[in-house]
Amino acid sequence: MRKILLITLVAALLAACATSPTGRRQLMMFPENELNQMGIAAYEEIKQKQPLSKDAAVNGYVACVAQAVLSQLPGDEGQGWEINVFQDDSPNAFALPGKKIGIHTGILKAAVNQDQLAAVIGHEIGHVQARHSGERLSVQTTAGAAGVLAAILVGSDSPEKQLAIAALGAGATYGIILPFSRTQESESDTIGLRLMAQAGFDPEESVRLWQNMASLNEGAAPPEFLSTHPASETRMRRLSEQMADVMPLYEQARARGIRPNCKR
Ligand SMILES: [Zn+2]
Repeated sequence: MRKILLITLVAALLAACATSPTGRRQLMMFPENELNQMGIAAYEEIKQKQPLSKDAAVNGYVACVAQAVLSQLPGDEGQGWEINVFQDDSPNAFALPGKKIGIHTGILKAAVNQDQLAAVIGHEIGHVQARHSGERLSVQTTAGAAGVLAAILVGSDSPEKQLAIAALGAGATYGIILPFSRTQESESDTIGLRLMAQAGFDPEESVRLWQNMASLNEGAAPPEFLSTHPASETRMRRLSEQMADVMPLYEQARARGIRPNCKR
């Protein structure tokens, strides 16, 4: 009897383990299709709460950069993403499972050119590709997928709903600061850096983006995005250390004629 129990337990744990795109073992209690359902539901909630930008030039610009980065995902993974620009002065950006991206107009104060915006978007896509929200939900909640989904879909802003949406990656909508771990942050930086370079965006601009973020932080009220994405020396140094790996990808892309030209 005890042996059967042990086998069941081991099988459950094995099923709950996954490997991230950079080869890291991760705890994953939720299958991908369930995570996608949660991300889609969370995104719908955010769209109900947050006004969209009506600026056609800004929308076109963000879509241009996002599509260029997404086109570098393997197979058809980059197809069918929904990208929205929210009219919100706070510098913030997020991506959710289920192929959803949200960009605040305020992020354009820090990401001042197409390459820097590609760094932001690449980083956020990195969180989705590495299924960080599933990893975080597995730790943050004991509710099953049905319970989490129900909490998101409930009409009122219950604490469970806010925690679920924050764990998925869009906590700023509710003023909840739930950072990803440092490991997850640097993993997303690595994935995003490769994607932007392959898409023909200058990877060196990723370091400048974080410098800009750091100078925004010198104001009276530090932006929420920086609470979850510290613009630390360590982050900038780690990015700089990877330039030797990604500059060849960038140069190859340029040589093949992949030269995005997204304008506001
Ligand atoms: Zn991040």
